[in-house]
Amino acid sequence: MATPARYAFPVGPIRPPSEGGSASLLIQVTRNCHWNRCGFCRLYRGERFELRSPAEVKADIDAIAAICTELRAVSDEMGRGGGIDREVALAFLEREPALRTGHEFPLVYQWLLSGGRTAFLQDANTLIMPAPRLVEILEYLRGTFPSLVRVTSYARAKTLCQKEPEDLARVRAAGLDRLHVGLESGDDEVLAHVDKGITGAGHIQAGRRARAAGFQLSEYWMPGLGGRELSEQHVRNTARVLNEISPDYIRTRPYLSLPGTELHAAAERGEFEPLGPLEQLFEVRRCVAALEVTARVCFDHCANDWRAPDGVLLLRQDYEGYQFPAEKPALLARIDAGLSRDPGLRPAPGAGQRARTRAGA
Ligand code: SF4
Repeated sequence: MATPARYAFPVGPIRPPSEGGSASLLIQVTRNCHWNRCGFCRLYRGERFELRSPAEVKADIDAIAAICTELRAVSDEMGRGGGIDREVALAFLEREPALRTGHEFPLVYQWLLSGGRTAFLQDANTLIMPAPRLVEILEYLRGTFPSLVRVTSYARAKTLCQKEPEDLARVRAAGLDRLHVGLESGDDEVLAHVDKGITGAGHIQAGRRARAAGFQLSEYWMPGLGGRELSEQHVRNTARVLNEISPDYIRTRPYLSLPGTELHAAAERGEFEPLGPLEQLFEVRRCVAALEVTARVCFDHCANDWRAPDGVLLLRQDYEGYQFPAEKPALLARIDAGLSRDPGLRPAPGAGQRARTRAGA
């Protein structure tokens, strides 16, 4: 049964883990990825990029508001004073059975249950939208849902470099609070190898522009992205670039080899040698040791699934992570506990960092 048009709105395929944790409302502002070339990513392959019009996005916001209004009306009729709970939801679905199967109702219901406080603008790079159009959408969203305290989005670093600072400031002032940026690596060779479309210096410029415009900044890096050959420079330059940017959040998303990507094909041909899970953890160890930031260092992506010797999850996967610099020693000790499962990974004498000593590495 199709969702009635007055309640229908699209959603894209992903949002950051932290936005799932806060049950963010998902608003699709663009479709797919206009770059679509990163050698480790297949998410939007074959899909055409599209800027959606403010009118389309406003209609989506109206559809979400209609679900909220109807839910609250049911709540009032049940004497719940507009409060939303399971009984109200079930009564609403009795009236609107077509909403039982689509994505619309669960998304709005969970968002309301969580207080209706956060929203995430999809898809891959919202800042690619001209600033006046994005401002129009943000103002409409904020005006429709005054309960929102945080609106976030993905942004490509290259786009941040290309935007006028005045446009970034206007978008920030209109209510976009936080940008999630895929740093992946700070090393130029690794970035070129995966066709990220930016250099380490570009990442630094992008991050500083985001901070200067007042955005909270969340940077994702990818252990293992340089493979065995570029591992040392990948880690060294990633830590250096993160230190230069000084983002609010540093999030670790380990490299996974996905069929259908250039990097996977290179590995099949023997031209790229992926690291094993503990070797990726060893990269995390070296990067964390080199970080000199005041930031939250997070492992909230599900691929951060290393285990301690006793079998429990090695690192906290909450969305606020470890506060640096205060929790850096504790985090390093925890990582060392995980690395102790591989006797080939040894601390370098007197160096605060560890060097790989296993033969053949
Ligand atoms: S910019 Fe992001 S979504 Fe687009 S190809 Fe690269 S990693 Fe994938």
